[in-house]
Formats: sequence, structure tokens, C-alpha cells
Amino acid sequence: MDRSQPGKLFVLSGPSGAGKSTVIAHLLKTLDKAYFSVSATTRAPREGEVDGVDYHFLSREQFEELIARGELLEHAEYVGNYYGTPAGPVNEKLAAGYDVLLDIETQGAEQVMANRPDAVSVFLFPPGFAVLEERLRKRGTDSEEKIQARLAQARVECRRAGLYRYIVINDLIENACSEALAIITAEKCRSADRLHFLKEED
Ligand code: 5GP
Repeated sequence: MDRSQPGKLFVLSGPSGAGKSTVIAHLLKTLDKAYFSVSATTRAPREGEVDGVDYHFLSREQFEELIARGELLEHAEYVGNYYGTPAGPVNEKLAAGYDVLLDIETQGAEQVMANRPDAVSVFLFPPGFAVLEERLRKRGTDSEEKIQARLAQARVECRRAGLYRYIVINDLIENACSEALAIITAEKCRSADRLHFLKEED
């Protein structure tokens, strides 16, 4: 039996330091056909980040050109920088049957939820703000001012968690990874997405 079926769009949000990258890395490793959407940003690369792999690092002018040309599925300003999802690769990969994973903040996620009602939204809740602060400090990449801004933003974002279809709690990363995988697995088993199997069996 050919088990292939259309790709699904998954939106993962959660404050900086909540563990989204770890959860996404786990999903990419575990799922059959999954694609991580590489965002565009005007933020400077952190040590070890690779252009085109972690982000497409752009100037503000380049980013504003993408907005003007309507090439972004969503975009937002977050702690002083632009972030956005290039629409082209997302649509291509969905059409090719890949599940597409977006790691985006809440303003962008709300745009996706409004424009793509088929998207599955998941909010990753951090175990607590003290842990979040510790993680942001351990990264050692941001100034004190940026850390404080990210923490303030984290509180704003957590208040929006109820807008998402699912909430995953990252008390233990193993739990968060298996909850996220369970959500994706269940969403892919929805009957509406599988009726074509029935027809094949007729
Ligand atoms: P960071 O600077 O820590 O890599 O990311 C900051 C925030 O921007 C994170 O919450 C991340 O999920 C979000 N982000 C990354 N890419 C995008 C994007 O394409 N669009 C939006 N709206 N947010 C993004």
C-alpha cells in the first residue's frame, strides 16, 4: 500500500529558550518526509550559524524588498529585527508531500493561522521563567539588554498560548519531543486526509 499523503504545515512557537530548535531537530530526524522552513532575518548571525541553513541573513533593505514583492508567508518584528518565512519553498515542499515545520514567534504564527486554516499550531511552554533566563544567559550571545527584552517578550508570548491548537510543556525535553511527535502523528491520521486510501481499496 502506498502510504504517501499530502504534506501538512506545522507552526511551532514558544519563547526564545523554550527548546523549539531541539524539538524540531528531533522531529526532522524522526519523521519520514519533513522539511524545516529556513526563515529570513535581519538579525546578525550567532557564532556557528550558517547562512542558508539556520537563517537567510539579510539587510533591512533586502528584507523590505521581500515584503514588497509579497514573497513572505508571514513576517514580524521581534526584539528589533525582522523575521519572515519565504513562501516559495514552503508551498513547493507541501506540494511534494513533505510536512513543513515553521519555528516562528506568535505574531507571525497568528498570520499563518489566519491565512492557512489547515496549519497545525503548537505552542511550546517553557518549564518556568527562571529556567528560560538561565538558558538565555548560557547561550552567551546576547547583551543584558537583549536578554531582558527577550524575557519580557517571552511573557507576552506565553499569554498567547491559548490561541494555538496544542500546548506542549517542556519540563523534560524527552517529554516535549514525544508530545510534539504524537501531535503530528495524530494530525496525519485525520480521516479527512486519508479518505483517498478508502477509494483506492474500492
Ligand atoms: P532567534 O533570534 O532566537 O533565532 O529567534 C527569535 C524569535 O524569532 C524566535 O521566537 C523564533 O521562533 C522567531 N522566528 C524565527 N524565524 C521566524 C520567522 O520566519 N517568522 C517569525 N514571525 N518569527 C520567526
